[in-house]
Amino acid sequence: MPTAADRLVRTLSQHGLRQTPVRRSVLQVLADAAFALSGSEIEQQLPAGTDRITLYRTLKSFEESGLIHRVIDSTDVVRYAACSIECSAKAHFDNHVHFKCTICQHIYCLNQVAIPAVTLPAQFQVVSRDYLLAGVCRECQPAV
Ligand SMILES: [Zn+2]
Ligand SMILES: [Zn+2]
Repeated sequence: MPTAADRLVRTLSQHGLRQTPVRRSVLQVLADAAFALSGSEIEQQLPAGTDRITLYRTLKSFEESGLIHRVIDSTDVVRYAACSIECSAKAHFDNHVHFKCTICQHIYCLNQVAIPAVTLPAQFQVVSRDYLLAGVCRECQPAV
C-alpha cells in the first residue's frame, strides 16, 4: 500500500514539479482540507517559519500545473482547493459546483456535482466557469 507521503511524491512528479519540503507540505494541507482554503489559512497550517513568498510561488505553480484550482466568491478572498486526480496543466476538469455555507462560511468543492450545461447565443465562447451555490452545509444543519 502506498503511503500518503508516497502519493504526494508521485503527484508532484506526475505534474512535472520538483520535490521540495514546502511543496509537499502545501499539497498535504490542501489534500487533507474538507473545504477551500485561503493563502493565509494554508500558511497557518504549514510548519512555523515557512516563507510566505515561497508559499505564494508554490500556489502559483500548483495552479499552473493543474494541481489546485481557485475558488472564488463575491468577496476578495481567493481560496484554493486540490484538483481531482485527472487534472493537468493542459486539461483542467474543474467542471464541478462550489457550495458556500452561509453559517460557517466554508466553500466546498462538490466534485460529484457537475456544472449544468448551458446553451449560449451564437458567437459566445466559454473560457472558464465558476458556479457557486450558497446555503447550509452538512456540518451546519440543525440537529433533528
Ligand atoms: Zn457550514
Ligand atoms: Zn473546486
